[in-house]
Amino acid sequence: MNTVIILAAGEGRRVGFRKQFAEVCGKPLFMYSLEKVLDVFEEVILVLPEEFIDKIRVHPKVKKVPGGKERQDSVFNALLKAEGEIVVIHDAARPLTSRKIFLEVMDLDNYDGKIVACPARDTLKEVVEGRVVKTLNRSVIWHAQTPQAFKRKILLECHMRARAEGFVATDDAGLLEKYGYKVGVIEGGYWNVKITYPEDLEFIRKILCR
Ligand code: C5P
Repeated sequence: MNTVIILAAGEGRRVGFRKQFAEVCGKPLFMYSLEKVLDVFEEVILVLPEEFIDKIRVHPKVKKVPGGKERQDSVFNALLKAEGEIVVIHDAARPLTSRKIFLEVMDLDNYDGKIVACPARDTLKEVVEGRVVKTLNRSVIWHAQTPQAFKRKILLECHMRARAEGFVATDDAGLLEKYGYKVGVIEGGYWNVKITYPEDLEFIRKILCR
């Protein structure tokens, strides 16, 4: 059995509103991800802010789980309910991910986890207090996205260790990297954007509301 965890419990601190519930052509943003995974995974977990758990109506197959303070806490809460051998984590803020990508990322080969990512296109600079201090070697830099797939037991072990040590990563693959597990990559596309700012929402409406 495989599990997907759709993360929709963010506070939208950077934008000032909960973008996962923003209406895009008549449905909330998180629904675009949820609809794509319903018949791909046996177990579907939707992580929501605690106060939305009873308000949000979804397919009966979907298990609703309350989120935590940080993204990592939200994943951990869902992991405690997950039963699949492989667990796929996806940000509801990425509504354009395809079904095909969900299927591809789950094929772990001999890796403990696999992520969708894009090779860097622009030249990347390290900037400190407004001054460029370094140019990074672009040829080895990739932009990590979701979905990300993992062996559930390994991901849970990494989360427990990170909690015990107070280590916080910006994605789940970061936890496996820290504890020496092997994470593979498949090439995604720039179209798999994450809605972060209000202008991203306008962009997504132009694509989805045609
Ligand atoms: O804030 P950020 O853009 O990194 O959030 C990525 C995803 O994680 C979003 O879909 C957001 O709803 C989710 N999230 C969560 N619980 C949190 C913070 C973020 O489910 N505490």
